[in-house]
Amino acid sequence: MTLNIVLLGPPGVGKGTYAGLLSKKYSIPNISVGDLFRNAIKNETPLGKRIKSIVSSGELVPDDIVIELVKDRLNEPDCKNGFLLDGYPRTVPQAEAMMTFKKVDIALNFVAPDEEIMSRIGGRRTCSKCAAIYHVKNIPPKVEGVCDKCKGELIQRSDEKPDVIKNRLEVYRQKTKPVADYLRTKGLVADIDANYPIAEVDTIIAQVAKYLDKLV
Ligand SMILES: [Zn+2]
Repeated sequence: MTLNIVLLGPPGVGKGTYAGLLSKKYSIPNISVGDLFRNAIKNETPLGKRIKSIVSSGELVPDDIVIELVKDRLNEPDCKNGFLLDGYPRTVPQAEAMMTFKKVDIALNFVAPDEEIMSRIGGRRTCSKCAAIYHVKNIPPKVEGVCDKCKGELIQRSDEKPDVIKNRLEVYRQKTKPVADYLRTKGLVADIDANYPIAEVDTIIAQVAKYLDKLV
């Protein structure tokens, strides 16, 4: 039995947090395609060199390269009982390719209303000195606008401003809806209601466990 899991869901829905917890709970690696890109570039692998030249010319990394990178990673021994995959598939061809090289057991589709995501991302504040992350409502600093750890100034990152978040959500919807639809036609999608405060992460994990415990 395997737990080959694909993670879907918009930016700010909390995928990173859930993936970390699920990775521990089920002892499977948590794989982010963004990290695969960064590592390949850093280690100057043949694919990494190609990715670097594509990215530096401002182009999107084409499907065939992404597919090869992910395929190699998923064929490593630590993935033999399963994995959590974040950032792939992003296109229908990527999803189709995956069906040929790796069985997908389930795609967890984390769902939350735009207003909730806007408030989660829009409330984030980052320390300009030590990069610690706060949230005006959920993780407020002791003194407004000041980092608890180093007294640095807390700022709102430009990609976390409301207009930019709106745009990121729109782009996400346009790009990934066909992927979710495709996986849905294969009967692989489990919708997970992620519209809970951060403190109730357990509620979200419990929903996921209901699905995963049927697979193991
Ligand atoms: Zn700080």
